[in-house]
Amino acid sequence: MKEQKNPKKPIYYYYIAALMIVMLLNAFVFPLLVKQNVTQVDYGTFLTQIESGKVKVVEIEENQIGFITADEEGKEKIYITGRMDDPELVNRLHKANIQFSKVIPRQNSPLMNFILTWIFPIVIFYGIGQILANSMQKRMGGNAMTFGKSNAKVYVEAQTGKTFADVAGQDEAKEALTEIVDFLHNPNKYKEIGAIMPKGALLVGPPGTGKTLLAKAVAGEAKVPFFSISGSEFVEMFVGMGAARVRDLFKQAQQKAPCIVFIDEIDTIGKKRDNGGIGGNDEREQTLNQLLTEMDGFNGEKGVVILAATNRPESLDKALLRPGRFDRRVPVELPDLSGREAILKVHGKNVKLDQDIDLNAIARASSGASGAELANIINEGALRAVKCDRKYVTQSDLEEAVEVVVAGYQRKGAVVSPKEKQIIAYHEIGHAIVAAKQTESAPVHKITIIPRTSGALGYTMQISEGENVLMTKEEAFNKIATYTGGRAAEELIFGTYTSGASNDIEQATKIARMMVTRLGMSKNFDMMALETVSNQYLGGDASLICSPDTASKIDEEVLSIIKKAHEKAINILKDNLDKLHELSRYLIERETITGDEFMEILSR
Ligand code: ADP
Ligand code: MG
Ligand code: ZN
Repeated sequence: MKEQKNPKKPIYYYYIAALMIVMLLNAFVFPLLVKQNVTQVDYGTFLTQIESGKVKVVEIEENQIGFITADEEGKEKIYITGRMDDPELVNRLHKANIQFSKVIPRQNSPLMNFILTWIFPIVIFYGIGQILANSMQKRMGGNAMTFGKSNAKVYVEAQTGKTFADVAGQDEAKEALTEIVDFLHNPNKYKEIGAIMPKGALLVGPPGTGKTLLAKAVAGEAKVPFFSISGSEFVEMFVGMGAARVRDLFKQAQQKAPCIVFIDEIDTIGKKRDNGGIGGNDEREQTLNQLLTEMDGFNGEKGVVILAATNRPESLDKALLRPGRFDRRVPVELPDLSGREAILKVHGKNVKLDQDIDLNAIARASSGASGAELANIINEGALRAVKCDRKYVTQSDLEEAVEVVVAGYQRKGAVVSPKEKQIIAYHEIGHAIVAAKQTESAPVHKITIIPRTSGALGYTMQISEGENVLMTKEEAFNKIATYTGGRAAEELIFGTYTSGASNDIEQATKIARMMVTRLGMSKNFDMMALETVSNQYLGGDASLICSPDTASKIDEEVLSIIKKAHEKAINILKDNLDKLHELSRYLIERETITGDEFMEILSR
């Protein structure tokens, strides 16, 4: 969908441009209009010059007299003098036989004067005014002259340029949307059987999974008018405007039916109405009410289908979700392994890839990445290839790109003292050995102690062979043990604690809490739900739903799990102390080692 991006140039940009033009005119154009090398003299000198006979031409103007003299060699000079009340002048000139005239200089003709002093500035001011008014309008998101008109843009097939082929994976979502497209193509097929098409479909899923992309693809496939508007565009400066926009949008849509209306980020207007702030939500509520009314106001037979996308479905007003409105919910989840590979393939088509590139390996390394992140990985890889002066993207470019997207860029300039480097190396090897010595744990893929811009001083990358949808209690516990492995190594070798384990602590605690409160993996609480997830797609924040008494018991339980895991890690490292030393020394030397190198040393 080619939406034209307004080049957001600040106002002073235009002022500077205008100033430059004026300066250029002053410097180059105006001087040409004015005679150069003019010497100013007094009237007496003028008279003496006339008597000496050197003056050849005299031009009498309104307030001044210009004259040209020529010396013996014929070199001419131009003079200018003020005009005096001299009735004798004409006689004098006549006597001296000098050519003279009363001229109004051409370059200062009244017409030109008028244009320069009046028309020209007006044109410039009008121009600046227009530019300002335009940018103002854009900032206010609409035409100031047509209050309440929705600025939903109509997109038709040719303009979006996206089809379902551009959306990799997400087969279920595509299937659900294909049905809608099909209905818009031949509604009679559905009418004959008596099926009623859903009025609206709501695309829900985490950010970057391709919800907006899917809607664009629907537009590309549907070959019907496509109205697209973002929820935030309804939120207006003036009270009542949002509702007016909704009304206008649906009026337009019904005129153009069959068509599709797409409301992106619908949570901006569709939030629950129950949080009674002090009048502050009135505007949004009005907009939402209007939307609900409009959705009720037409029946599906007219052929208007409403699509909406959100990544916070739990915050939507229940009224929006009831049958007859957005009754169809299309989940757009994070891609699984094959989905990731497919997305990498789609975006890989746009760059030159090495022939024997293994996108499956990249997909395995980027578990949990969204479609947007995968697209970014391909692009980062291409950027790296350019930086290295290569003509195509290699496997190592993509591997580095995964790390860039996951952990940020390498911080080559970071100063790490030898002592710190040693601690970091033992820390990472600690993670790796604990991971490797446990069953039910993903194999180590890479260990590095090159700092990253994300703040990570080093990390151990584990990549599982396939992808599991289920996590067993043992796996969860082993994960925690692996997280504690870094600190365990520091304790064993240096007898101190460093701040390097802060992220490990956070992760370990998260998993342990989840085991207790949500996964029912603790004996004491059995299958009791202790937390609800408040926004599933954005970070998954959870809130406790139990008594304070239980909450403190949960804390105890979580602590005991972490303690047990930590102990396990220490024991594993104690049993492999020489390997810990050997591998750490090796890592300090190399800074980055592969999983194969690691396993080779560990198992010999
Ligand atoms: P959302 O609206 O869900 O936050 P977008 O649709 O804006 O995400 O996706 C952002 C970008 O990520 C897309 O423009 C596309 O390049 C890429 N992307 C996301 N999902 C996919 C997918 N399934 N197939 C191909 N590209 C994808
Ligand atoms: Mg989006
Ligand atoms: Zn660590």
